[in-house]
Amino acid sequence: MSCDDANTVPPSAWPSAINLHAQARTLELVWDGRHAVLSHRVLRRSCRCSVCENARRKTDDTLPVAADVALLTIEPLGSTALRLVFSDGHERGIYPWTYLKQMAFGPTTGEFSDSLTKGWRDE
Ligand SMILES: [Zn+2]
Repeated sequence: MSCDDANTVPPSAWPSAINLHAQARTLELVWDGRHAVLSHRVLRRSCRCSVCENARRKTDDTLPVAADVALLTIEPLGSTALRLVFSDGHERGIYPWTYLKQMAFGPTTGEFSDSLTKGWRDE
């Protein structure tokens, strides 16, 4: 994807790099030199669309997601979010930068305790 419009948004909003690692099944985002590495499965489980929110309500907060679910497509949504398309056919998930940052860098919550991320590192 192109980052040509990165100059039109605040530098902290748009990641300086977005890398989809198909083999490792991770999505890597870089903000200000900080690498956020999120597993596809965690991203899928963290979907906040109405369908997933409803499913979560029925299943005690844990969305049933195949272990080998993969992120297939990343689609920028305006300048503030990504729409992610997964291998299980789910394509409704909207992931704002703030949410992705919170997932990567925020305090780990019980819901995500099993490897919310594979960690991050400073450059
Ligand atoms: Zn969803």
